[in-house]
Amino acid sequence: MNRERSYNGCRMAQIIDTLTTDAERCVIPGHGALAAKPADRELFYSAEVARATDELYVRVRDVIPAVEWPVYAPYIHAISQLKQERDAVVLAHNYMTPEIFACVGDIRGDSLQLAREAARTPASVIVQAGVHFMAETSKILSPEKTVLIPDMAAGCSLASAITGEDVRLMKAAHPNVPVVSYVNSSAEVKAESDVCCTSSNAVQVTEWIAAEWDVDRVIVIPDEYLARNVATQTSLRIITWQGHCEVHERFTASDIEQLRISYPGALVLAHPECPPDVLSVADFAGSTAALADYVERERPKRVILLTECSMSDNVAVSNPATDFVRPCNLCPHMKRITLQGIYDALLEMKHEVVVEAQIAQRARIAIERMLSVPLGLKPPGFTTGRAAVDVELMSRA
Ligand code: SF4
Repeated sequence: MNRERSYNGCRMAQIIDTLTTDAERCVIPGHGALAAKPADRELFYSAEVARATDELYVRVRDVIPAVEWPVYAPYIHAISQLKQERDAVVLAHNYMTPEIFACVGDIRGDSLQLAREAARTPASVIVQAGVHFMAETSKILSPEKTVLIPDMAAGCSLASAITGEDVRLMKAAHPNVPVVSYVNSSAEVKAESDVCCTSSNAVQVTEWIAAEWDVDRVIVIPDEYLARNVATQTSLRIITWQGHCEVHERFTASDIEQLRISYPGALVLAHPECPPDVLSVADFAGSTAALADYVERERPKRVILLTECSMSDNVAVSNPATDFVRPCNLCPHMKRITLQGIYDALLEMKHEVVVEAQIAQRARIAIERMLSVPLGLKPPGFTTGRAAVDVELMSRA
């Protein structure tokens, strides 16, 4: 039997029902060791697993080849069972791969959406399918909950670019200037800040705090490019830090020029962590939520998303009529999060994220201040086509 062709033509459960031996089933490679763990599941693609996951596969079949599904489905099924047993939810960031984002994520979105929902969920356990600063944010907003991260080493080049001590030095150099810290920062940095922001609300939060403090200068950290892009949208003077997202800093305006030649008519959508010259030539710019919303609303024939690779896959799942060009860059930190890691974290209740109480209390004030800033229903975009403006750039001596 040509099994792959059959996968494409009929339901997975029907195929698996015809398999009789373990050898014919898809046993997950490298899982001999897991068999010894307490309460471990049978991680192979059985008829029961196929029946339980068939409908999920329909959601992602345009981005996950049928031949790969038997590798993912046993984990997805086992994670679903473990979530019920542990009273857990999975918060999945847009940069997770589709088998995580669409198949095990209970709450999905960008940093701001996940931060809001972390505080609202009644579940007692949160598994953060994202990087460490996101798990810290969840813990800060939900101190009574157990927050797990599948891999403690899932960091972020922005979050590691600046420390609490750096922020104290910036404040000393600029007294009476409020500090807006991007949520892509450590709890310690948030604790030193007056308010947090995400790429969805960076402009609004910056203008809001300037009005509250009655000042014309604001410190926006740690992302130099986000701060420079904010500076093009406001008349405020921006002071920033030399931190960069290693995924978005790699896009250039000449990349876009080449892409426009190769894909005439395609719309170029950029994330505001890209350098300002990229935003100046993009057709639309905004946070991950704003980019997804734009595609949903405008239904373009073809788009080029200048952001992390999995974002295109995840937006494509709900927009099958749009053709996605993927000149994307992978985030090595986000990609540390896997189905196996989520499964192991839930099975063993491991990699708990803890934030020191005093730091958490101060960081919480900055995050809650951000959440209280009134925003429209839809995430606003950045106006593209604007010329770069001067900012004051600081770095460690
Ligand atoms: S995509 Fe950039 S900002 Fe997001 S986690 Fe990766 S390095 Fe950090």
